[in-house]
Parts: sequence; C-alpha cells; structure tokens
Amino acid sequence: MFGINEIVGKHFFKDAKKDELLVASRFFTLQGEGPYRGHPAYFIRLAKCNLACSFCDTYFDSGDWRSFASLIEEADTVINDFFLKRNMPTPSWASDVPKKMVLVITGGEPSLQDNLSAFLEEAQKLFQHTQIESNGISLLPNLPESTTLVVSPKCLEKDSKVLRYLQPNQKMLDRADYLKFVMSALDDDKFSPYSEIPTWAHEWSAKTGKSVFVSPMNIYKKEPQRVKSIRDQGRDLTLAERSDINEIVSFWEPDLLDLKKNQRNHEYAAEYCMKHGFILNLQIHLFASLP
Ligand code: SF4
Repeated sequence: MFGINEIVGKHFFKDAKKDELLVASRFFTLQGEGPYRGHPAYFIRLAKCNLACSFCDTYFDSGDWRSFASLIEEADTVINDFFLKRNMPTPSWASDVPKKMVLVITGGEPSLQDNLSAFLEEAQKLFQHTQIESNGISLLPNLPESTTLVVSPKCLEKDSKVLRYLQPNQKMLDRADYLKFVMSALDDDKFSPYSEIPTWAHEWSAKTGKSVFVSPMNIYKKEPQRVKSIRDQGRDLTLAERSDINEIVSFWEPDLLDLKKNQRNHEYAAEYCMKHGFILNLQIHLFASLP
C-alpha cells in the first residue's frame, strides 16, 4: 500500500463549502482502464478514502481545498502544459469546448464528497464524457445521468487479512454502468476473496446485461523511488508535485513490480474472463509511463 491511508467517512467533509472539493491531484493523461481505456483523459483525484486496501497503489492522503471555478479554469493550464513540455501547440480537440476527452473523477473515494455531483453538473459541459470510479460503499446522491459510474468493489480487511467482499450500497449498484474487480491468482492453492468475483456481481451482470471488468492485481516490490526520495526529505508535496511525482508509476522502472506474481495474476484473470465472458482490464497507462 502506498501512502498512509487514514480511513475517513462522509463526516470528514461535513464543513466543506458548497462549491469546493478536496483534491489530491489533477493531470492530463490517457485513461488506462475501464470503458474509456485508451482515451485522452483529464483526471481529478479526490483526497481521502473509506478503506485502506493492502494492495492500494495510489496516494490520496493529502489534498487542497479547491473551488469548482478554479478546478475548471485550471484544466486548460494543465492540458496546455502537457503539450508545452513536448514543444507542441495544444491541438484543437484538447482546447475547444467540449474537449474531446473524458473527465475522470477518482480517488481515494469520490463518493465521500457530496459536492461532487454539483461539480459534475458544471464540468460535464466542458468535456465530451464524464466518469467516476467508486468502491460503491457510500451513496453519492444526484450524480448526473450522463456520468458513467464504474463501481469497483473491494474487500474487508483486518489485521492484514483479506476477509470478504463488501457489497456496494444497493442504490450505487442499481446506478452502476460497469463493475470492475481486482483479481489475484490463488496463492499456493490458498483461497483469497480476490481470486473470485462474488456471486452477486455475476447475478448483476446476468440481470442487467452490463459488463464486468477484471484487473489483474499489480504487486509492487517497492514504492516508486521518485516519490520515496521526496518523502524521505520530510516535507509535504504541493498539489503540482502530487499531480506529477505521485502519479507516474512506470511498468518499466527496474525492480518496481513483482513480475512473477504479476504474470500469475494476469494469466489467472485472463482465464477467468474467458470462462465468464468478462472483460480483461490492464492498467495500460503503466506501459506508457503516463500518470
Ligand atoms: S478503495 Fe481504492 S483508493 Fe481506497 S484504499 Fe482501496 S484501492 Fe485504495
């Protein structure tokens, strides 16, 4: 698990101003997973989570309070900077409104911040698509109809033991457009809840005809070293640093990933998808060394 991952609930955000979100990072990239995989994407990662999954590979502990207006204004600057760094003018598809890309809201756990629905109402005018990803435990009310909701259920863990899947809030499950699961291979024939997709998810897919994505669990041998070296200096990262340094995790960094375990997880997940008609979901941004 990267980061500290202090568990919080909706109560943590009770004093939030109506037009603000607590933001860990924001960046321009390609969506690596799910229904928009491979599409240009503007990401806003919201801070804090209501779980602390042992395999979590994101940093979301720290955040800055940002107004809706500043988040919307800043998108152009971040996208322009991406092209500027590559000595390219910003192409019209990325600057015209609506931008030909997907706005992805992830976390942490985005559903903890009820203000998010109002933000999406405003932001959806500027992007061709909008998507949020949630573990589904908390209900996010008033999510705009046009926003794609990917629910990615996770397991209850105690004392480093993975116990069982947490079934999402029924209203989130009813609203979900897709489900996404992380999958690990059976370890020495020891059963892990992450080696099986729960029955209620199979039933959801059969009943709704909607798709289930399966992501092989990526196992890391160590933290990405750029992040570690800054944290070892004992200082907090700024929003700009979190948006760059915390987000770039590359498949090609030597000795970062446990390739043996990852190979097993990928082969196991692929076979599971073939057996059940689910969609194999690789984190393709890792191969492009993009955030
Ligand atoms: S729910 Fe997602 S963001 Fe939260 S700890 Fe688990 S993997 Fe990380």
